[in-house]
Order: sequence, then structure tokens, then C-alpha cells
Amino acid sequence: MIEVKHLTKRYGKTTALDDISFTVESGEVLGFLGPNGAGKSTTMNIITGYISSNEGTVTVDGSEILKEPKKTKQKIGYLPEIPPVYPDMTVRKYLEFMFDLKRVKLPKAEHINEVMRLVGLERHGRRLIKNLSKGYRQRVGFAQALLGNPPVIILDEPTVGLDPKQIIEIRKLIKNLGKKHTVIFSSHVLSEISATCDRVIIIADGKIIADAKADELYTALSDRQKLLVTAEGKSADVMAELNKVPEVERVNKLGAAGKGANRFEVEYRAGTDVRRQVFSAMARINCPILEMTAGNGSLEELYLQLTENAKGGEN
Ligand code: ADP
Ligand code: MG
Repeated sequence: MIEVKHLTKRYGKTTALDDISFTVESGEVLGFLGPNGAGKSTTMNIITGYISSNEGTVTVDGSEILKEPKKTKQKIGYLPEIPPVYPDMTVRKYLEFMFDLKRVKLPKAEHINEVMRLVGLERHGRRLIKNLSKGYRQRVGFAQALLGNPPVIILDEPTVGLDPKQIIEIRKLIKNLGKKHTVIFSSHVLSEISATCDRVIIIADGKIIADAKADELYTALSDRQKLLVTAEGKSADVMAELNKVPEVERVNKLGAAGKGANRFEVEYRAGTDVRRQVFSAMARINCPILEMTAGNGSLEELYLQLTENAKGGEN
């Protein structure tokens, strides 16, 4: 449904996007994850035709944004980082205004009612946008993106600044949208993304560093896994024996663990399971294992590690 090929975007000497490519299948909910300044908004602004790239192409449902901007834009509903709402309009007037602006060809009143119902604004039509809470203003932005039933919905950090209850509601809404639309939404919060989407792309410093199904993210990000082992015996002997296991890549001593025992961190190749070999190795040198647990840090930690070198943005 969406094909992004070799996008590069430079602002003066800053390279905001450095050769980004990915595709999104029809009906997929794609999470676009990355720290501030990573290039999320830039990517979304290029996909939606708001800004142009220096290199690369974007194709949405067969039409290329630069060659057929009008036709392509009609296939996309976009909620930018700062929702384009007019504070002095009522919710309904604003949606009518946007309906006309987008030249939507559906029955007007009926369609606006439907969209308002979908985002939970049905009882707020007559309220001035400036009197709405941030969460409700965000819903108005959402409603605007849904006008005309575009097959693709793009949401730039739709939950920023909302309270936990509102965040849960917006998440539900996104999941619901995924039934009928292809959705890309961005966030700098990992848990946000993994709770809502099928697939995750992680972007840092203008480059894609992972593109994986939500539940395969850890393996996609890390080439090593860890095991924490507490064993009795001289640590030099234990470490030497553990290092003989072919899949083990590194053994670190973490410290003493009571009388005659030590704790070790065993790093081994991702996708393998070394527990049995560790057991046999320790049995060979007669060093009883007192404890053995998976020592992987959280996905959150791994994400922070991988993205912390990315330059900080100002937004
Ligand atoms: P994100 O949305 O992931 O926080 P952005 O796409 O907004 O990141 O920004 C990516 C990089 O491009 C940042 O380094 C940012 O400072 C830079 N950038 C974005 N917009 C502009 C602009 N209009 N002029 C100059 N630099 C910009
Ligand atoms: Mg942004």
C-alpha cells in the first residue's frame, strides 16, 4: 500500500533522513518509533506530500506523491504533530470546513456524523475547539484525518501530552482503525508502539535500525542474549569452562555470591539455547550451579542503548 524508497532529506548541513526505505502492507498498523530528532516527522511530512525529499520516492496505492500530488493526497488522512485545528470554530463547523476543503464526495452530514461517532465526539459538535481539553482537541484532529475515508491514515505522535486514560482511548481508536485502514503512527515511547501495532520500524539519527514484527523486536535488535549463572568453584575455572561452549561469546564475572560461589553473566549468540551445555560444563569441572536465569535486559533498555547515540532534536 505504501512504498518508501531511498528517502534522503537534508536541511543545510543536517541530514535528517539518510536513505530510508520501507513498505507497508494494506491493512497493516505500523509503529514508527524513535527518539526526538530521529526523523519521524520529516518522514511523515514527505509521505503526505507536505515537504519534498532531496532523493527518493514515495508511492501510495500505486500513485507517486511527487507525480500525482492531488490524487495521492486524497488517499491519505494525516494528523500532523500539531493538529491543524481552528480554535474559534465549533467542532462541527471545523469538520464541515475540512470536508469542503478536501472535496469529499460522500453525503456530508451523514459522513461527518459517522466520523464524529467513531472518535467519540458525537456530543461535542457545538463546542468551540478552544474550549476543548487537549485529548478532545486531538480527537478533532483525528476526525479531520478520517474525513473522506482515506485508505491510509498517518498519525504523528498522536498521544503526546495526553493523560493515561486518554492514551488508552487513542490506542483503542488506532487499533480499530487498523481493521479498515493502513495506519502508520509514530511515537518516541516503546511501550506505546508495542501495545498497538503489528510491525515496528525503529529510526534513529535518520536511519532505520530495526524493522520487525512487534513480538520479534528483541531478537531483531540484539545479536546476543544473556544468561545469569551463579556457580560454586574458582571463578577462573568456571569462566574457562564456560568459554569452551561454542555458542558462548563472552563471560563476565559479576561478583561473589556467598561462600565459594560467584555470579556470572554469560553472553551467547541470539537464537541459540546454551542452558544444557552450561549445565554439562559445570558438571564436568564439578562446580554446582546454584542458580541460572535469563539475563536479558528489558526491550526498553535495549532500545535506549541503541538510540542514545542519536543526536537530540529540539521538538
Ligand atoms: P522527530 O519527528 O523524529 O522528532 P524530525 O523529523 O522532526 O524528528 O527531525 C529530524 C531532524 O531534522 C532533527 O535533527 C531536526 O532538528 C531536523 N529538522 C527538522 N525540521 C527541520 C527544519 N525545518 N529545518 C532544519 N532542520 C530541521
Ligand atoms: Mg516529530
